[in-house]
Amino acid sequence: MRQEELNVEGYCKVVRFQDDASGLDAIVSIHSDAIGPGLGGCRMFPYASFEDGLDDVLRLSKGMTYKNALAGIPFGGGKSVIFGNPRSDKTPRLFPAFGAAVNAMAGLYYGAQDSGVDKADLDAAAGATRYIAGLGGPNGEGGDPSPFTAYGVWRGVEAAVRHKLGSDLKGVRVIVMGLGHVGMELARLLHKGGASLIVADIDPARVEEAKSRFGATGAHYQEAFAQDADVYAPCALGGAINPTTVQHLKVKVVAGAANNQLQSPEMGAALNDRGVLYAPDYIVNAGGVISVGQEVIGGWTKEKVYARLDKIGVTIKEVFARADRDGRRTDEVANAMAEEIIAAGAAPRAAAV
Ligand code: NAD
Repeated sequence: MRQEELNVEGYCKVVRFQDDASGLDAIVSIHSDAIGPGLGGCRMFPYASFEDGLDDVLRLSKGMTYKNALAGIPFGGGKSVIFGNPRSDKTPRLFPAFGAAVNAMAGLYYGAQDSGVDKADLDAAAGATRYIAGLGGPNGEGGDPSPFTAYGVWRGVEAAVRHKLGSDLKGVRVIVMGLGHVGMELARLLHKGGASLIVADIDPARVEEAKSRFGATGAHYQEAFAQDADVYAPCALGGAINPTTVQHLKVKVVAGAANNQLQSPEMGAALNDRGVLYAPDYIVNAGGVISVGQEVIGGWTKEKVYARLDKIGVTIKEVFARADRDGRRTDEVANAMAEEIIAAGAAPRAAAV
């Protein structure tokens, strides 16, 4: 296996791994280890170029530094990408080789699932390293992060509704866009809390399922964001808040599971200008990494994990309070809060050098 360390300013360690025998071409990026070893998923994607893959892994690993800091877990930001098409380029030797690459990071990186990588792939990688996380325990501990993510998002929606509308979820109208692993479970929790749902997905069967289980109203996935409602919960793709969608929003709150909901930082300002309260995505969707992180720490119990998930509501309330107090946007306040935590984590090490 060939290893090449890439010198990237502002990053702790970035390494490209290439292995002819298995066909592995991967990058592991640790943005920051100020709080602990990097923890974040492995994504397999047919990037058009090496630079595209590098850009993605750098952006994603930096995002994990912020997410893990505000989730209150002792991990820094890490992520990895494997170049290749997950439908056609997986071979029996690929993930064991990826496991060996993770192992070569000597504990600086814990890899977990992300798009294009499934549980069987992770199991194969885990044969070559102990630094793979999120495999679940023999008695149902952890595993699939989606239900934990959904629970955290639900906490975030609750806190945002309380802050903006001064009410609980009863009778609040929520648009759930994307009814996959997270969105469907979020819809269930919102329905249980008394919310009325407008749902959309490119897969009509999922819309039908939500209609029959939760009494939801279906909307077309290209128009759902513009429905008359109180909350918009993007749970499908990134970039849900963009120049096209933002001008048609009628909601007062945006809070959902999708990563990178703001297509650009200007969209944070656009929401703010329209009086829409934005619950920063990486705070409310941290439930999955909270569970995976607890698996790494050891002693995973439902009590420990749900106690930490409930704190998502507390953190988001603090973001809203600081934003109000300082007259700043919630996305800016969240970044500032994460940077304070990271700096405090880095300070003892800097003092020791
Ligand atoms: P998923 O693939 O299970 O579900 C995505 C759903 O969105 C599917 O039902 C799909 O049909 C639908 N969809 C795709 N394109 C759409 C479109 N253009 N319009 C409407 N619907 C569309 O994914 P998931 O695990 O539920 O994750 C959802 C989002 O949350 C993703 O952005 C993911 O990155 C993010 N997220 C997930 C987790 C987790 O634990 N799974 C954690 C953090 C963030």
